[in-house]
Amino acid sequence: MTPSDRVPVSVGELLDTRPEILGAAAEDFGHLVRRPPLGVLRPRSAAEVRDALVYAGPRGIPVAARAGGHSLYGQGQAPDGIVLDLSALAAVGPVTGDRVTVQAGARWTDVLAATLPHGLTPPVLTDYLGAGVGGVLSAGGLGGASHRHGLVADSVLELEVVTGAGEHLLCSPDRHGALFDAVLAGLGQLAVIVRATLRLSPAPATVRRYCLYYPGIDAYLADQHLLATDRRFDHLEGQARPVADTPDGWTYLVEAVAAHRGTAPPDDRRLRAGLAFGSVEATDLGYAEFAQRVAADEELLRATGEWLHPHPWLNLLLPEDATASVVTEVLRDPGFRDLRENGLVLLYPLLTGALRAPMFRRPRGEVVFLLALLRTAAPGAAGPMVAANRRVYESARAKGAVAYPVNALPMTPRDWRAHYGGGWAALARAKGVHDPHGVLGGGHGMAW
Ligand SMILES: Cc1cc2nc3c(=O)[nH]c(=O)nc-3n(C[C@H](O)[C@H](O)[C@H](O)COP(=O)(O)OP(=O)(O)OC[C@H]3O[C@@H](n4cnc5c(N)ncnc54)[C@H](O)[C@@H]3O)c2cc1C
Repeated sequence: MTPSDRVPVSVGELLDTRPEILGAAAEDFGHLVRRPPLGVLRPRSAAEVRDALVYAGPRGIPVAARAGGHSLYGQGQAPDGIVLDLSALAAVGPVTGDRVTVQAGARWTDVLAATLPHGLTPPVLTDYLGAGVGGVLSAGGLGGASHRHGLVADSVLELEVVTGAGEHLLCSPDRHGALFDAVLAGLGQLAVIVRATLRLSPAPATVRRYCLYYPGIDAYLADQHLLATDRRFDHLEGQARPVADTPDGWTYLVEAVAAHRGTAPPDDRRLRAGLAFGSVEATDLGYAEFAQRVAADEELLRATGEWLHPHPWLNLLLPEDATASVVTEVLRDPGFRDLRENGLVLLYPLLTGALRAPMFRRPRGEVVFLLALLRTAAPGAAGPMVAANRRVYESARAKGAVAYPVNALPMTPRDWRAHYGGGWAALARAKGVHDPHGVLGGGHGMAW
């Protein structure tokens, strides 16, 4: 089939079908799934996004929005369809008062670069700022400030969207509120986000980063609970790291950050009080340097070539009472042995009461833990790792875990129903209204 067989002439004429463009649209950060579209469109306005959806919808042509291109498992691909490359919709600003309006194709690094000169920052940032605004808002967005301020998506005040039905709308809590709620962390099922207005917070000039080391998981989880609930730090994350000299072969690291207030450094004694860590390191650094910390890793991994290798990542949200058992099981699992050599295991608490976007699924309980198993495979070697992700997902789900769906994890339509639980019926109704032809978000594998 060629593009002209399926795509009406006016859109067909604009479609970029050059092999290198189709090849790029068939790739993502996961490098695990490769499905070329019929063509790529590069809209320059919301009207052009609308034109694409008005044409594609009635003809049943799948459409995927692509912002930063960091999907893990083809979620931003549109086999036999149209990829909307949002790179020409990447304007940021101006900053007015405590808010900024950004187009969905911008990267978070550009957002921060625009807000910092005003002494402002998005209240929550993901660890990596190279991801796209559209992709992070459609996933939700978790970071070290989430225990205080919720999701990245929770700082959105207003959205400009084009629905799958081709409606171009402004929405906010007071205007098309149900659509606003369904688009944030909504995995791109109902609409393409064109623009978002974000609330900003004051940005500190300097922060102090504390690394608190724990030899065992129980004391670690207990202190993470305490730190999440008393909110003494501005940023709270953590990791499991392989070592030789602890009982289970892993050490646990709380990575906590407190801002300097003006010229006053944080009060070390107060911040460390009541904690059971074994050792501690503290470093002062600029806020911008801290926020951009993953950029140096990216540079290194690009230099070694690993950035372009397959990434069979798995992100799960665990109920607190199952966290120790799931983590211990995974860290002992032979299918995850490579985590000791070149993986990264993030493990940090979130307060469910702070996560506001209703589409964002979370396990039961006040405190839950993000477990991110971030692995890199040699080209062609990721198959068993994806299978291991699936196995761990099923076993953790039986204990109440929920996927944070930025994963290399095959999900069936049945899994998705279970994922949304009682919310599935409302989502299906909204899909019928806003994407009646079912052309959006097919890369996630939900069946409508
Ligand atoms: C190195 C790295 C570190 C990461 N760290 C974190 C982290 O700390 N916290 C965290 O929460 N996540 C993290 N992520 C995951 C990341 O937030 C998601 O993968 C995100 O969806 C990527 O967005 P993107 O725009 O770059 O990707 P894309 O592939 O362009 O988009 C991802 C998904 O969003 C959809 N989408 C894109 N734009 C739009 C739009 N305008 N409207 C509607 N749907 C849209 C796409 O169709 C696709 O399904 C990390 C990813 C990487 C690669």
